[in-house]
Amino acid sequence: MNARSNSNAVNDVASLIHPYTNLARHPEAGPVVMTRGDGVYVEDEHGRRYIEGMSGLWCASLGFSEKRLVEAATRQLETLPYYHLFNHRSVEPSIELAERLLDIAPAGLGKVLFANSGSEANDQAIKLVWYYNNARGRPEKKKIISRWRGYHGVTIASGSLTGLPANHADFDLPIANILHTDMPSHFHNAKPGESVADFTRRMVDNLEQLILREGPDTIAAFIAEPVCGSGGVIVPPEGYFAGIQAVLRKYDILFIADEVICGFGRTGNMFGCDTYDLKPDIMTMAKALSASYLPISATIVSDDIHEAMMEQSRKHGGFAHGVTYSGHPVCAAVAVETLKIYEDRNIIGHVQEVSTRFLERLHALAERPYIGEARGVGLIGAVELVTDKASRTPFAPALGIGPGIQAKAMENGVIVRALRDVIAFCPPLIIDRQQIDMMFDGVEKALDAMEPSMQ
Ligand code: PLP
Repeated sequence: MNARSNSNAVNDVASLIHPYTNLARHPEAGPVVMTRGDGVYVEDEHGRRYIEGMSGLWCASLGFSEKRLVEAATRQLETLPYYHLFNHRSVEPSIELAERLLDIAPAGLGKVLFANSGSEANDQAIKLVWYYNNARGRPEKKKIISRWRGYHGVTIASGSLTGLPANHADFDLPIANILHTDMPSHFHNAKPGESVADFTRRMVDNLEQLILREGPDTIAAFIAEPVCGSGGVIVPPEGYFAGIQAVLRKYDILFIADEVICGFGRTGNMFGCDTYDLKPDIMTMAKALSASYLPISATIVSDDIHEAMMEQSRKHGGFAHGVTYSGHPVCAAVAVETLKIYEDRNIIGHVQEVSTRFLERLHALAERPYIGEARGVGLIGAVELVTDKASRTPFAPALGIGPGIQAKAMENGVIVRALRDVIAFCPPLIIDRQQIDMMFDGVEKALDAMEPSMQ
């Protein structure tokens, strides 16, 4: 072990590998070490306080100091800190959590399989789709279609679903049987002069053409986030999912809704599936499931898929899948308490109420000359920076406009996320109107400060 310094920065650089970080720059850039949380605020080791306008990683839905979650974890830790669900064993918090999830999930979803992360929830969704089609005697029906810019995680399979080139480059991804279709972003993908309605039809048609080219009998499932998050906060155009779902039904293709960001109120309803009238066969969730106080994720499957899993169990003598912490009782107890808090405090009603201010301030940013588009729904949104609004020309990445705005906003006590030149907002669902104003004031000041670099 290295000699320990009394500086967090020195010890961090000496010992940690940071996910999603420029590792070559980290020794010089150093870490921002967060030490406390309070409501929608976090505080760093130097006592600087920030509004967490991204809920951490789109996840800390109830902020950073929810005592009820601490108490729920403590109670469970004192009663039964660990047990598992393998081999017919069970634990009460997992049973209650599964029941509560099925109560709020879209109709047709019938059973819950827990894991630890969003990546695992999607990874096991793929395995279940393959298992299902093998049980149904369709061994050739295995390809999964995801979307460019979609984000579904980083494991070998979920990272393959992710449609961002950086997640594939030099990791030897995607694996076989994963295909990508277009993201329905009119801003990025429309042809000159193409109306939103025509564009939406073309997006749906492109999916159908891909299915026909590959052969419908080879396509098992389609996966999408209701609102794409990490790929740039893309809100689906009207009619998109209705068209997509009709195509999927036509070719007997399963629909996996990735609710890892959208789930639990983010879009102004319990699930993104409710906001966009989606009828998935599989739904995956994580993040706000436990308000991120502890890691837990879930894959919820239709009765039909579960039926096939039972057949496989008969055939093979068991369901040979599961992780040590699937349905971990402490994580599940915290998730149950999270769901109770959403209900007791009418968090969805609150999101609907404050999102009017959030969206008003977000869309007002589009009046600035270098904001090409503002887009959002509920309490998730983004603005995209461009050199020229009419041509939607992006800035050269080397200019570092987005990261510059992110850094300036932090100087103003506001954390937002630059996804290249997209500035994303995803505050805790408990944020109030005044805090929303403070968040946007900090970002407006950052945009003012960066304006000279954008000319
Ligand atoms: N799916 C979506 C929509 C996500 O946004 C994420 C993470 O940001 C994931 C899946 C992966 O979740 P995790 O990072 O917990 O593996």
